[in-house]
Amino acid sequence: MKDGIVATYPSLDENIKTDIAIMGAGVSGALTAYYLRNSGFDVAVFDRRHAGMGSTAASTAFLQYEIDTPLTKLSAYVGKQNAVKSYRLCRKAIYDIESICKKLEPAFDFSIRPSLHYASFKKHRGELYNEYVMRREHGFNAEWLEAADVNKIFGLDAPGAIFSADGGEVDAYMLTHALLGAFRHEGHTIFSNTTISDISHERRGVTLTTATGHTIKAKKLVIACGYESQKYVPKKIAEIHATYALVSEPVREDLLWHKNSLMWETATPYMYFRIADKNRILLGGKDDFFHNPQIRDARIKRKTEMLIHSFSQKMRHINLKADFSWAGAFGVTKDGLPYIGAIPERPHTYFALGYGGNGITFSVIAAEIIRDMLLKKKNENAHLFDFNR
Ligand SMILES: Cc1cc2nc3c(=O)[nH]c(=O)nc-3n(C[C@H](O)[C@H](O)[C@H](O)COP(=O)(O)OP(=O)(O)OC[C@H]3O[C@@H](n4cnc5c(N)ncnc54)[C@H](O)[C@@H]3O)c2cc1C
Repeated sequence: MKDGIVATYPSLDENIKTDIAIMGAGVSGALTAYYLRNSGFDVAVFDRRHAGMGSTAASTAFLQYEIDTPLTKLSAYVGKQNAVKSYRLCRKAIYDIESICKKLEPAFDFSIRPSLHYASFKKHRGELYNEYVMRREHGFNAEWLEAADVNKIFGLDAPGAIFSADGGEVDAYMLTHALLGAFRHEGHTIFSNTTISDISHERRGVTLTTATGHTIKAKKLVIACGYESQKYVPKKIAEIHATYALVSEPVREDLLWHKNSLMWETATPYMYFRIADKNRILLGGKDDFFHNPQIRDARIKRKTEMLIHSFSQKMRHINLKADFSWAGAFGVTKDGLPYIGAIPERPHTYFALGYGGNGITFSVIAAEIIRDMLLKKKNENAHLFDFNR
């Protein structure tokens, strides 16, 4: 809403051939296109909507290496070594985004931010402290804060918190357009309003058919359709949830908190907030564990009130007024990690499914892994996000 449709692309009105077809022009498709074009591939991107108008437009774009599953829990799911590796990859992804933003012309706004993960209740303090110990053990730059310090430094009421370096924030929608725009001068290889309605897997590649009957012949296909990707995978890989967010009216600068930190809590579902443009506060959470867009959208007003109420319980000195509220869908996997790579049922096809509350860092990891797979280069991390894990 804030930025509108910043760039328009034509729909496909002829049959074409390309090396790589990418379905989905959200942040995952745009990053994959960016990585592949930089490696010399001929790429065409297709989206059924305008570019970036899926989950990417709804994103509050916190960039955190701390995924929705704490390191201690993730270790139980995938083993300690893999869990630590996944966290380190997410941390690297944040700095990868920073360096991509610097290389874009003009350079794109990106900020490194610390984060504060606070215990929602006294009973969560112990587990959060164990999480802190494990992170420190594995070299993450984190500090433990007791309740009095959390209050003194952040003005927040919480029984304890982990204060971590190495987070970031970016405008995911505008970044998507900047990434797609980086190749615009090379011809029309981005198509919006182009729904891929059929995929045929052949011996030497794929043929995609659009809803208007045009065909795209590609050597390889990347599916980056966000939460709409499930229909291309035979086994169920994610639950789709509804999530809510709002941006407040500007807040007095002297009321804002330490280092513009990204704030989030231990409760499930969790509330999270950060400072956005012009001292507004971006606040999200109150997720519902279902996905019905009509019911979800009817709840926006109530969820806005609930978010404001919960916020005011924690940050008593800020009287927040919502300016604009919205809702969106996001996928949740069994271990909080994304699904990236290939499945035998769909030859010549790669998936970039950055599900979860940290979908954007996963999108970077997906772009890198898929690029390596297409270059036939060994990627030592690919197994972490395999469909058979
Ligand atoms: C309210 C909200 C807050 C969030 N906050 C954060 C956050 O703070 N930090 C974070 O990292 N992540 C966050 N996320 C998640 C993050 O936004 C997503 O992980 C990310 O945007 C997913 O990008 P994507 O490109 O994979 O999917 P999308 O942006 O959904 O893009 C997929 C695209 O595929 C297109 N498509 C689908 N089917 C077809 C088809 N058949 N043919 C052609 N095109 C098709 C769609 O039109 C869509 O544009 C949030 C999500 C929501 C909803």
